[in-house]
Amino acid sequence: MGLDEEGTAPVQPLGDMPNQEFRVNGEWVLDWIARYLEDPDRYPVLAPVSPGEIRARLPAEAPEKGEPMETILRDYEDLILPGITHWNHPAFFAYFSITGSGPGILGEMLASALNVNAMVWRSSPAGTELEEVTAAWLRDLLGLPHSFEGVINDTASSSSLYAMAAAREAKLPQASATGLSGFPRGRFYASDQAHSSIDKAAITLGFGREGLKRVASDETFRLRPDALRAAIEEDLEAGIQPLGIVATLGTTSTTSVDPIQEVASVAEEFRLWLHVDAAYGGPAAMVPELRPLFSGWERADSIVVNPHKWLFTPIDCSVLYVRDPEQLKRAFSLTPDYLKTSEEGVARNLMDYGQALGRRFRALKLWFVLRYFGAEGIRKRILQHVEMARELAAWVDREPDWERVAPVPFSTVVFRFAPEGSAGEDQDRWNAAIMDRVNATGEVFLSHTVLRGRLCLRIALGNLKTRRAHLEKSWQLLREAAGGLAPSAPGD
Ligand code: PLP
Repeated sequence: MGLDEEGTAPVQPLGDMPNQEFRVNGEWVLDWIARYLEDPDRYPVLAPVSPGEIRARLPAEAPEKGEPMETILRDYEDLILPGITHWNHPAFFAYFSITGSGPGILGEMLASALNVNAMVWRSSPAGTELEEVTAAWLRDLLGLPHSFEGVINDTASSSSLYAMAAAREAKLPQASATGLSGFPRGRFYASDQAHSSIDKAAITLGFGREGLKRVASDETFRLRPDALRAAIEEDLEAGIQPLGIVATLGTTSTTSVDPIQEVASVAEEFRLWLHVDAAYGGPAAMVPELRPLFSGWERADSIVVNPHKWLFTPIDCSVLYVRDPEQLKRAFSLTPDYLKTSEEGVARNLMDYGQALGRRFRALKLWFVLRYFGAEGIRKRILQHVEMARELAAWVDREPDWERVAPVPFSTVVFRFAPEGSAGEDQDRWNAAIMDRVNATGEVFLSHTVLRGRLCLRIALGNLKTRRAHLEKSWQLLREAAGGLAPSAPGD
């Protein structure tokens, strides 16, 4: 490539990047990814930067002239990478730990190269049909009946929003034509541990914050069916229209599992839509030992499971299962003339099952993951995470100054430093300090939650590179960080 008149910038031919240049840079990128994935723990897990630091290093304006890929890739390493929190790091234990996995990344790369938009069947026949096939494979692996059909969305937040739109459609079918004015106030129900995406969905659907009633959970953070029933009856008496119930199998804070059989009975009794949020926990239903936790979820109207959380698929990939896809379609189907095709009624047009028209070819990476690891390989990997979490839970239980706050049904342990005789407020302060100290080491990243007003620490396992040694190190760092904080603390 020649240089421009000033001799500073390369003169690019019109059209896309020349193939040879793509090949050379593509090889560099692939090699970089392979080296990166080999040992992502050479980087500090939590990005050691302050807000605004990365932005300040970047030019305020886009370049007028094209730049060589070499410079762009160098800046990627020098300017962007320092601001990355490494979700690939084997000691990333915050939020819900995840894995993009080799096969998933390769599938993502090919999907990006194909760049199809599977909005209608003819715009990507394979995109549409592979989505149907992979969602059905996963449904069978999860032990769900064939009456469920799946569509793939970006996130559980979208999937739950769409499920709740279908619930609205079932109860208030005229509302999608006329809006909500003129109807009694509508209400969804979920436990006080349900994810905030459920509140957001109620707001987005026009029911407002009060459109979701948070029902009390029990001492192990499971929705209380008696409180659910009381809330519905109270609303009926007050002239409020119950719309649906959201049960969570694997809540965000503690991974508690709502008593789904009893909740399903309440939903059936009051003829309410039952949506199950199994965004994180869902993949565990593949494991026979864990399947009993899900017993009854087949009675739901809709279920969300996120392969991008605990099924080794790169972000984003969320499968929404519905027992009556027509109900979902009624909530969203609206075909402008330019999108009408002769395949309507014969083939699925994915745009009919959600808010978005355009959709990425997400099924490809999920297909790669399911085929590469196989059901057996996935089960073993999930079980390994669960076993490591149980071991950590046992370490916590053995330590007198530490307390485990919740049961461990899956791969997340919630605990706090709580020396006997100390005040709750002091403990909150200490746990916040412990978390900050441990995260500042760059060796581990963990996050917190607040349960019954008390600050608790979480360690969530979901990365395929995590080994027992990473947990041992984390537990050691935690105990060291607690040293000297309280009179009876270790190290005092
Ligand atoms: N539901 C649960 C139980 C979650 O834990 C989360 C996120 O952690 C979500 C929903 C939202 O997931 P997403 O980021 O895919 O919207």
